[in-house]
Amino acid sequence: MVKNCQAIWKNCLEIIKEEVPEQSFKTWFAPIKPVKLQDNVLTIEVPTPFFYEWLEEHYVYILKRAIDAELGPSGKLEYSIVVDKGDANHQPFTLNVRNSKPAGNKPVISTHQSGGAQNNPFPPSPNSGGNANSSSSGNYTSGANKIKPISSPFELPDTDPAQFDTQLNPVYTFDNYIEGDCNRLARSAGMAIAKKPGFTAFNPLVVYGGVGLGKTHLTQAIGNEIKANFPEKLVLYVTSDQFTTQFIEALKNNNVQNFTNFYLKVDVLIIDDIQFLAGKEKTQENFFHIFNRLHQSGRQIIMTSDCPPRSLQGLQERLLSRFKWGLTADIQIPDYETRVAIVQTKMSNEGVEVPNEVIDYLARNVDSNIRELEGVLISLIANASFMRKDIDLELAKTTLLNIFRTTEKEITIEFIQQVVADYFKLSVEELKSKTRKKDIASARQIAMYFSQQYTDMPLKMIGDRFGGRDHSTVVHASKTVIKKNDNDAIYRKIINELTEMMQVGK
Ligand code: ADP
Ligand code: MG
Repeated sequence: MVKNCQAIWKNCLEIIKEEVPEQSFKTWFAPIKPVKLQDNVLTIEVPTPFFYEWLEEHYVYILKRAIDAELGPSGKLEYSIVVDKGDANHQPFTLNVRNSKPAGNKPVISTHQSGGAQNNPFPPSPNSGGNANSSSSGNYTSGANKIKPISSPFELPDTDPAQFDTQLNPVYTFDNYIEGDCNRLARSAGMAIAKKPGFTAFNPLVVYGGVGLGKTHLTQAIGNEIKANFPEKLVLYVTSDQFTTQFIEALKNNNVQNFTNFYLKVDVLIIDDIQFLAGKEKTQENFFHIFNRLHQSGRQIIMTSDCPPRSLQGLQERLLSRFKWGLTADIQIPDYETRVAIVQTKMSNEGVEVPNEVIDYLARNVDSNIRELEGVLISLIANASFMRKDIDLELAKTTLLNIFRTTEKEITIEFIQQVVADYFKLSVEELKSKTRKKDIASARQIAMYFSQQYTDMPLKMIGDRFGGRDHSTVVHASKTVIKKNDNDAIYRKIINELTEMMQVGK
């Protein structure tokens, strides 16, 4: 059967779609066109050099996996990069580049000029091909982390500190972790730990907070900093899922002793997302044992969770009581000033200039979590590159609108009303009623705010659905919620929790 480049690329896209968030998929993969398939090399056309660099930096593993699945291990991928689109007088100019090996080898470059005799306008960038120093942008996409091959420590117990695989991502540092009221306590505790791991009062450190607020970044930054300060220490980062999988494997292979011994050698254990240990009794038992032994011998333990430890359902009481020995610090949704600092820093790290009004617009409108904010920044850079435009307010607005249209479309007002009513233990009727009782009115404002945030419905219609109120009531409700959210930490927490519930409903 003759393989056809369109069909092959279509299958690759199916695989890629499974791995990357919808928005990233639309931004980075939808604009790609398959061009040819020859000698088992698939050539894909990418619209700009920037696209190529981004794909290589963030999605090289995913692409490799898709190509392997479709073309077998000898299959290769080549980019045809549109460097100059051309016009009536000039033919387009493209550059063909082989994709790098996921291990981070430099790409093999072969110029291919389909047009006039220009000089090569796109010298191979020293930053491309996964160079760890390339830019801070590595932390923009968690997609690439997801497919980092997970080594199974108990099978590879090389505990020579020089060889030891910490599983840390070097991109996560304190330098690029922006400080704000939202994370100050956790961040300073982390910095203290990095100076004296195991010898502060913060053992264990439990960092908790909603999704995308910087738990993984912070705890990995602590690990990286410890490694820089004390190269002889064994620092290990694992997710609870990895820990569980390894433990189950060890059980199957009668290897639990090795598994445990391996963990007992570690000087600093970072275990991410412990909420996933819920209900896994045997794994928890083993973790409890490891935890006690490490703690007794002055080793540092750092954990993250998506909710306060006391609300972790399905975690044994004796394990929870251990967490109280150290410090539990939360990370909140960043306030406006921190969001501005994040936008400024991330854009300037990318070498992109952004007018203040755009920074203000983004910081005001993307206020749920930092991952989402980063997603918007990436799309904005990609759109600017794609359209060869500078970033201005208009482009920022269009980008945001497109993102919200594609990601928020399934949330209905009925859903929002139900979630908010349940949360405040009210009925939907009460929420829509005329009553001005303070509690009910406040819940109503929140529901109106979410309706405005999450649906495309005109304000007038939103008002109608809340017992026939007019559009200015909706505007006022949203303003009130935003203001309280900025000024009141408890209120912010409520909005944060509700936002998460809305996300789940999507
Ligand atoms: P969580 O683990 O809480 O879900 P992450 O640590 O994965 O969140 O953070 C999501 C994204 O936001 C990452 O790319 C991270 O680098 C970025 N990020 C989070 N907090 C900050 C911060 N304070 N400064 C800069 N970037 C941040
Ligand atoms: Mg995380």
